[in-house]
Amino acid sequence: MSVFHVQVYPWHEEHWTRLWQASMPHAILIVGPSGIGKRAFALALAKRLLCESPPGELACDACPSCRWFLGGIHPDFRWVFSEAETEAEADS
Ligand SMILES: [Zn+2]
Repeated sequence: MSVFHVQVYPWHEEHWTRLWQASMPHAILIVGPSGIGKRAFALALAKRLLCESPPGELACDACPSCRWFLGGIHPDFRWVFSEAETEAEADS
């Protein structure tokens, strides 16, 4: 079971597919209104980029990297929050 909510929602599929059709940019800014799944999208992207044997556009969910990611212990993954986001979560 994942400690993160990792998902590409149907309304993200166009953006997700576009990411894999060209060379991956060195940085991606994900913006949009609250509640549309930006965090789940970012986590799905991180998991896919760290996956050791991706079968396609999604991570395999079976390799050691995917298992570490889903367990919240991947040594190469760091979730960095902005001050504003940290304060918003503390208020909720
Ligand atoms: Zn994998």
